[in-house]
Amino acid sequence: MAFTIRLCPFCGGAINSEEAGFFVCEECDKRSYRSRTYSRVYLQNKPYEADYGAILDVVDISPEKALEQINAVMDSVEEPDTDMYFTRGLVYTAMGEEGKAHIDWKKGLEVMTDLRNIDAYIMPVCRGIMDTIIIKEREFLDFSPLEYIDTIATEFSLKAGVPCRGLFYLSLYRDFRTAYQSGKLDDDDEIYQNIVVKILPKILAYGRDYRMVVDAIDEMLEDFHYNPDTYIEDDNMMMHICDMLKSEYQKLAENFSDAHIERIYRHWNDENMFELEYWVDELMKSIKDDSILQKVRWLRTKENFNLEDAVEGYARKFLLLSEDGEDLSKEA
Ligand SMILES: [Zn+2]
Repeated sequence: MAFTIRLCPFCGGAINSEEAGFFVCEECDKRSYRSRTYSRVYLQNKPYEADYGAILDVVDISPEKALEQINAVMDSVEEPDTDMYFTRGLVYTAMGEEGKAHIDWKKGLEVMTDLRNIDAYIMPVCRGIMDTIIIKEREFLDFSPLEYIDTIATEFSLKAGVPCRGLFYLSLYRDFRTAYQSGKLDDDDEIYQNIVVKILPKILAYGRDYRMVVDAIDEMLEDFHYNPDTYIEDDNMMMHICDMLKSEYQKLAENFSDAHIERIYRHWNDENMFELEYWVDELMKSIKDDSILQKVRWLRTKENFNLEDAVEGYARKFLLLSEDGEDLSKEA
C-alpha cells in the first residue's frame, strides 16, 4: 500500500517508524502488525513460543490431544495467563466449541496487563473466527458470525479503550482472502463469497481509513468478477455500489492533505460509526427495494435522487464534506 501517511489503527496517531513486521505508534505505544494473517504472532519471542506452537501443531492431528496438553500447562500454574487462554481458545475453535473459545479469550483479555501488544491477540481471534465460520458452513450449523465478531470486538474495545471493530473485520477479511487464494477453500468456493457478502457492509462502515476500504473494494471487484457493463445481468449490484463508492472516495479526497486524512480518521470510532452502518445497510437494501432510496434522501438535497446520489451522499458523510465541499472535519 502506497499511503503517504500511515495511521495507528487504534488512536489514529501518525506512524513514522517500522520494526521487523510491525509498527509502533509514538502516541499510544501500541504495536500494529503489517501482516494480518499470522495467528501465532502473540507468542513471538516468548520463552514458550516453541512449546505452545507445538500444541497448536497437534490441533491439526487431534484437537482433543492438543486440549489435553494446554490444559496440563494451565493446571500447572495457579493463575493461567493471557497467552494460555488465547492458545486454548484456538484449540477450542478447531473443535467447533466457539462458545468455550469466546470465554477463554474473554478471560485472557481480563488478565491482560500490557495493552501495547493487543493487536497480536486480534489475529489469533480472527483466525479462530474464520475456522469457526468454515466449520459451521461445512456442517450446515446455525451460527451468526456478525453477532459473534461484534461481541468480541466490543470486548477488545472496552478493554483497550480504542475502536477495534474495523480492525477485526479487515483482519478477518484478509485471513479469508489469503485462505481463498492459497486454495484452502477450494472444496467450498461458496464460503468465501458468502462471508465477504456478509462482512462487506461492516468493512465499509467500520473501516476507519477509507484508503484501506478502497483497496479492499478493488480486491473484491476482482474476486466477484465485477464488470461495469454487465453488472445488472450478472446480479452484481452490491459490487456496483462498492465501485461507485470507491470512485466517490477517490474523486472527493483527491487533494486531501495528510492532516485532513488524519482528522477524518480520528473522528470515527465504534460508537459514531454505528450510524454509518445504518446507512450502508440502507444502501444495500435499496438494491432490492428502490423505495428505500427515498429514506437516504435527506443525505442530499437534490431533485431526481438516484442511487449514485445516495452513494455520493454517503461518501460525503464519511469524508465529513458538506454538499458544497466545505471541510467539516475541522469542527468534527
Ligand atoms: Zn496509537
